[in-house]
Amino acid sequence: MQPLHYGTVTNYIGGQWTNAATDARYINVESPLDGRVIAQLVMGTAKDLDAAVAAAHAAFQHWGKVPVKERVQVFFRYKYLLEKHIDGLSRLIQTENGKTYDEAKAEIEKAIELTEFACSLPQLVQGEVMEVSRGVECRTEKVPLGVVASIVPFNFPAMVPNWTIPNALALGNCMIIKPSETVPLTLVRIAALLKEAGLPDGVFNIVNGDREIVEAICSHPGIEAVSFVGSTKVAKLVYQQSTAHLKRCLALGGAKNHLLVMPDANPAMTAGNITASMSGCAGQRCMAASAMVAVGETDHIIARLVEEASKIVPGKNLGAVISSQAKQRIEGYITEAEQQGAKILLDGRNVVVAGHEGGYYVGPTVVDFVTADMALAKEEIFGPVLAILRCNTVDEALAIENASPYGNAASVFTQSGGVARYVAEKASAGMVGVNIGVPVPREPFSFGGWNDSRFGVGDITGKSSIEFWTKLKKTTVKWNPEAGVNWMS
Ligand code: NAD
Repeated sequence: MQPLHYGTVTNYIGGQWTNAATDARYINVESPLDGRVIAQLVMGTAKDLDAAVAAAHAAFQHWGKVPVKERVQVFFRYKYLLEKHIDGLSRLIQTENGKTYDEAKAEIEKAIELTEFACSLPQLVQGEVMEVSRGVECRTEKVPLGVVASIVPFNFPAMVPNWTIPNALALGNCMIIKPSETVPLTLVRIAALLKEAGLPDGVFNIVNGDREIVEAICSHPGIEAVSFVGSTKVAKLVYQQSTAHLKRCLALGGAKNHLLVMPDANPAMTAGNITASMSGCAGQRCMAASAMVAVGETDHIIARLVEEASKIVPGKNLGAVISSQAKQRIEGYITEAEQQGAKILLDGRNVVVAGHEGGYYVGPTVVDFVTADMALAKEEIFGPVLAILRCNTVDEALAIENASPYGNAASVFTQSGGVARYVAEKASAGMVGVNIGVPVPREPFSFGGWNDSRFGVGDITGKSSIEFWTKLKKTTVKWNPEAGVNWMS
């Protein structure tokens, strides 16, 4: 057997890569580009988690007391290192996740933006002070929680971890991160860059694994807060388990995003934006266009959209999906909708990319006349598939959007300000777009959906995340004896 390209990945505890135990459980890491096994992953145990929490607690005794202006210096250097290594990181993401090089690079660019925000935290986290009665002063300060955990999904090996790492650590916490077991390699590089940037050992730790480690995190008495990003099914479990153990939890789940297209929409702009949204990262984005709700006479826009989508070529400007099971699942949804009477306008099933015959590719797929009762209309497909539902009025379209249990994103395509305003107000989603296919708020605005797309309070990035990663200390002070004593003090 040939040596694996990326060797064996273990856990990162207290600034060191641990040795695997003799009875360790291993899984293979495959590249979706060609199905090749590229690494072996050692699955962590509850004992590894205990060691990581102990290392993080030890590091917190110092890191939690370092002034925030000093802590962010590490992230200025980390930002520079992300810029310096953007090419290598992008190639690594491409190899382990299957997305295109440009998409992988965009992830690092976003990680840089997230780090820039963390560098601005000293400007945002000042406390308040006020003389609340004669000679009596109250002051507030935002202090770190202690040891926190971040559990992340496969679809953004760099961006989603960087939703939490720079902010949580710059705010003084120490972290245990649990990578997706399908894409653990990018975080190996990120750990090295954080160390090179000067982050003290133990502030950032990685424990690999699956369900067993996630459950151990949710119940660990040494962990104060858990952030999670992944499917709704697991987000609910993590939220329930963490809060049952009296932890703070923010759990982001899956999505089914509706794009409402009005007859007056600009055809080129609409077709271009929706195609990019449904096919970007092979549709494996929680903000991907998944259901287009076509209102009234929109055949000319749909024709344009199919023309645009036909230019998306697997292996060229369309990456692979994460696994052979994902490919089967996505193609299964398309076939089921076809059998139920939907019309396939562009069919991405059974695609083979020359030279990458072992890869997991699904071509761009557009399915028209999907009805609201079909699984293709209701469930998260997580592939480059657009379901088109037809209706006659904007209220009918909004009723379809509002009926979805999810609530990440919704967009409207129109030239009418009044219609745009109406949809923005009535859509039941945390992130709304007007003539935008992927309405992700940029820093300093925060990222977070509603309904079954997010459990917990607040958002995971931007200013909103400051509340999640800190607690408020209130100090009331009286120095002058003549200030007196009353019922308040
Ligand atoms: P997933 O829920 O399968 O896995 C997420 C994490 O949970 C992984 O680290 C995994 O190891 C762990 N996990 C999996 N099954 C578990 C179980 N039964 N118990 C405990 N832990 C478990 O998600 P995924 O397939 O890695 O990622 C895709 C999903 O993530 C999609 O649903 C997508 O919409 C969602 N996502 C959401 C957002 C958002 O911001 N809302 C962002 C990115 C991805």
